[in-house]
Amino acid sequence: MSRAQLCERPGEPLRLVERPVPEPGPGQVLLRVSACAVCRTDLHVVDGELASPGHAFVPGHEIVGTVLAAGAGADVRPGTRLGVPWLGWTCGHCEWCRSGRENLCPEARFTGWQIDGGYADHVLADHRYCFELPAGLDDVHAAPLLCAGLIGWRALKAAGAGRTLGLYGFGAAAHLIAQVAIWQGRRVLAFTRPGDAAARAFALGLGAAWAGDSDQPAPEPLDAAILFAPVGALVPRALAAVKPGGTVVCAGIHMSDIPAFPYARLWGERVVRSVANLTRRDALEFLALAPRVGLRVAAEALPLAAANAALGRLRRGEVAGALVLVT
Ligand SMILES: [Zn+2]
Ligand SMILES: [Zn+2]
Repeated sequence: MSRAQLCERPGEPLRLVERPVPEPGPGQVLLRVSACAVCRTDLHVVDGELASPGHAFVPGHEIVGTVLAAGAGADVRPGTRLGVPWLGWTCGHCEWCRSGRENLCPEARFTGWQIDGGYADHVLADHRYCFELPAGLDDVHAAPLLCAGLIGWRALKAAGAGRTLGLYGFGAAAHLIAQVAIWQGRRVLAFTRPGDAAARAFALGLGAAWAGDSDQPAPEPLDAAILFAPVGALVPRALAAVKPGGTVVCAGIHMSDIPAFPYARLWGERVVRSVANLTRRDALEFLALAPRVGLRVAAEALPLAAANAALGRLRRGEVAGALVLVT
């Protein structure tokens, strides 16, 4: 048997159930899950802020596991350690898939939403969307790379090459991407939840040049900003902080409404854009980069049975780095 934390109805707590170990179908691998990081997107799906997939599902899309068995056509050796990210399947033939933008595929299926995810002892995954992980990181510390790292990396690329980068919301994604940006030679300014001294200290400890409350003006003009916090009111604030030509990247899948703001904030060829999901290319790039950067991953392990408590802590902002469920 296999334990799984099931979301039966959005808005209700997850329920720990026992189910038979699933069998891998064609192209699939069966993984014994060892670690699965908890992402803010899990909160959005569990709280019903994203559309329900229409059936009970198991959340979790930052999965590290070991291959137990492979279905027909999945040429993966048992015992291989793999990571499973949010992007679980794409159609391969739409205009986005054919132009290197499979992250926008309208048929895409996502791990821990349409496809059962890693808050479980076992998971099935399409082997074409799984990745080998840097050998220098153990399972708990590799798990947060799979969304916080990969989508953070896509957001960093979308922000452009400017030297001074503002990060709004300093959680799991920002703590990894700040290290990458600093390694690239950039200056990172961390804008944290007002009054969150622990988050400010965490950012400064990782090499941020400045850390302050997100409701305060930036201490210097920014070349770009990335919003990891799901707070729409930060968009006009970040626009006010970026220089002409600067970009504001919204990296979350869900955000509260963006309040109206004067056109002058956007004037000067400032850009507001979102980043949606990830491509497999993003994953390969970031996982190759991570060992070169020497990422320090802040991860706290909790048992699978504590999934609801972990989500509660994330909801309340009581996390420095990433929470990771272990089996
Ligand atoms: Zn497609
Ligand atoms: Zn995620």
